[in-house]
Amino acid sequence: MAEKPPQPTMDTIVSLCRRRGFVFPSSEIYGGLGSTFDYGHYGVLLKTNIRNQWLRAMVQERDDMVALDSAIILNPRVWEASGHVAGFNDPLVDCRTCKLRFRADKLDDAACGRKPSKRPGETPDCDLTDSRQFNLMFETHVGALQDGSSSAYLRPETAQGIFINFKNVLQIARRKPPFGIAQTGKSFRNEITPGNFLFRVREFEQMEMEFFVPPDDAPRWHEYWIAERLAWYRGLGLRDENLRVREHDEQERSHYSSATSDIEYRYPIGWQELEGVANRGSYDLTQHTDHSGTKLEYVGPDGERYTPHVIEPAVSIERIFVALLVDAYDEEVVAERKRVVLRLHPLVAPVKAAILPLVPRDEGMASRARTLYEELRRHHVVEHDDSGQIGRRYRRQDEIGTPWAFTIDEQTLEDETVTVRDRDSLAQERLPISGVREWLDEALQQDSPSPRSR
Ligand code: ATP
Repeated sequence: MAEKPPQPTMDTIVSLCRRRGFVFPSSEIYGGLGSTFDYGHYGVLLKTNIRNQWLRAMVQERDDMVALDSAIILNPRVWEASGHVAGFNDPLVDCRTCKLRFRADKLDDAACGRKPSKRPGETPDCDLTDSRQFNLMFETHVGALQDGSSSAYLRPETAQGIFINFKNVLQIARRKPPFGIAQTGKSFRNEITPGNFLFRVREFEQMEMEFFVPPDDAPRWHEYWIAERLAWYRGLGLRDENLRVREHDEQERSHYSSATSDIEYRYPIGWQELEGVANRGSYDLTQHTDHSGTKLEYVGPDGERYTPHVIEPAVSIERIFVALLVDAYDEEVVAERKRVVLRLHPLVAPVKAAILPLVPRDEGMASRARTLYEELRRHHVVEHDDSGQIGRRYRRQDEIGTPWAFTIDEQTLEDETVTVRDRDSLAQERLPISGVREWLDEALQQDSPSPRSR
C-alpha cells in the first residue's frame, strides 16, 4: 500500500497561498487587520470554482431548487424574529493578566497570551473573568441619522434572507414542498477568537440551502442531505479518511435545531466543522409568521395547510477552500528535486491547463503556442507561460494545481503534435495540436472521484 502523505501544517498552506498569490493578509500596507484576508488571482479562481460547483449540484442539476440573492442588510426586525438579537452569542472570558479575550467554550483550542504552549487558565498567572455573553452581530447605521431608529446589522448568516422570501418563491416560482432555496453570499460575525487562517474569519462567504418539506418527512430528508453533501465532497476529491459526520448532542444544538450533524474535516488543527446540516423544524417560518404577521405556510390545492419543516446544509467557501488545499497538498522528490504539487480535482483547479513553448525564442513554437492558448482560453481558464526553464515552468504550474500542461517543442514543428503532461503521474503523451481542445474538454468531463486515488 502506498504510504499516506503527511498532512501539511496550516503554516505550509498559508505560505503557499501567499507565495503563489492565492490569499494575502488584508490592509497589509497599514499593518493589516486581524484575521482579514484578500484573495489574489488564483484564490479568486478557486473560490469561483467552489461556488460554481456548489450551484451546479444544488441548483442546476436539480428540479426541486431555486436560487436567491437576498440583501446583506435586512430590516433589523428579521434578526429579532430569528432569535439572533437575543441569542446569537458566544460565551466570552477575559484574561486580566494578558488582556486577551477567549471563547469560554473553546479554551482548549486557545493559547495563553504569556505562555502560548499553555491553555488560558492553565498557568498560575492566568486570571480569567467569569464568562459573559457576547453578541456576534456587527451593528451599523442606515441613512444619515445615527440613533437607535437607524440601527441595523450586517447579516450573520444568509439563511434568514431565504425564510423571509419563502412566500415570494412559493407564489412566483410556483413551488410545493419538497423544494429548496439556495443562496451564496457574504456573512459577517464579530468572532471573539478568529484565526487559523481562513477557518474562522469575521467576513466569509456562505453557501446555504433551505429545503422545505412536509413535517413528517423531515428526518428522512435530513439523512438524505447529509449523504448528498458528503458525496459532493468526495466527488471533489476530498479523501474519505479526512471526512466524518458527527451528530450534535442536545446541549450543543442551536436554539432552532431539532437535530444537527456536522460534516467534519480533519484540518491541520484537528477535526473541525466543515459544514453543518441542521433540521431546523418549523422554527424560522413560525417566528417570521409571528413577528411579521405574514403567514408563511404551504396551502395545497385541496386546502391542506401546514408550516413546512426545514433542512439546512450550510457551509462557507473559506472552510472548503482550506480543506481542498490541505487535502491536495503534496511534496515529493522528482529527479533529486523537491516538487510541491497541489493534487486538486480538475473541476476546482484554478487553471485547467498550461501552454508552454519549449523554446520561446523559436518563432514557430511561439506562434503555435500563442494560437493554441488563444483558442483554449475562449473555453477554459488556461495559462501561457514562456518565461524560464521548462522544468521551472512545470513546477510553477504544479504548485497551483494545474492538471495538464501542453508543450510545443521541436517535434511540433515537424508533425503538428504537442506533448501533454499529467500533473499527478508525470506521464507524457503526444496529441495532434488540432485535437487539444477536444482532449481537454473530455478530460474535464471525466469523472475522477479523487486525484489522490489514481
Ligand atoms: P462554529 O461552531 O465553527 O463557530 P457554527 O456552528 O457557528 O460554526 P454555523 O452557524 O452552523 O457555524 O454556520 C454554517 C457554516 O458557516 C459553518 O459550517 C462554516 O462552514 C461556516 N462558518 C461559520 N462561521 C464561520 C467563520 N467565522 N469563518 C468561516 N466560516 C464560517
